[in-house]
Amino acid sequence: MKPLALFGGTFDPVHLGHLSVAWEASELLDAEVRLMPTHVPPHRHAPTASPAQRVAMLKAALQGQDRLTLDTRELRREGPSYTIHTLRELREEQGDRPLVLLLGADAFANLPSWHSWRELFEHAHIGVLNRPGIDAAWSVELAVEILPRRVTDPDVLRELPAGKVIELAVTPLEISATRVRELLAEGRDPRYLLPCGLFDDPTVLAPYRA
Ligand code: ATP
Repeated sequence: MKPLALFGGTFDPVHLGHLSVAWEASELLDAEVRLMPTHVPPHRHAPTASPAQRVAMLKAALQGQDRLTLDTRELRREGPSYTIHTLRELREEQGDRPLVLLLGADAFANLPSWHSWRELFEHAHIGVLNRPGIDAAWSVELAVEILPRRVTDPDVLRELPAGKVIELAVTPLEISATRVRELLAEGRDPRYLLPCGLFDDPTVLAPYRA
């Protein structure tokens, strides 16, 4: 069965790093990939752009293709976006369909700080996307949980609904939303770090301008 992969994030704003790794993960896993903007990220400061502005940027970014789609369920829910709640809900909806949680290597290294993190494996596989320029060392606690779950063949993920971890060798792109926000705040124009649809309407990037 074609897996359903979820790629959560603040997308503040969505940039070509997000889109490129999500696209390549979709190819490598032969999966449908949904980009899922988070509401109140439990681990970090509030986003600069509002939920509606982040959704508008994602919609503009996703035009003209159908491999990557948008799932706004976390924005419709009150309170913090705990991934475990989302995965429980998706498991109910999707029956035995393989689910894959896609995480950049930095987010993956932080997994043990997530709410009920070990339960994530009951509902989904995890696909780890390599990301250059960041410290993504695994703690002992994470390594002990991951090593028995590690696989290299994407076909294994199609045969089981959840529980495995695969590292996906996507093209490394050293782009972050932090860097994009810094450039915009300095009055610069990071045109080729962002999807071109974000430049069609000059008000779209206004929240990041100083
Ligand atoms: P910020 O700089 O504001 O922290 P970000 O660029 O890390 O933002 P997020 O929306 O926080 O973007 O990230 C969502 C997910 O995308 C995370 O799993 C993160 O690791 C991953 N990600 C973001 N940029 C890249 C990239 N260039 N390569 C691989 N993964 C990435």
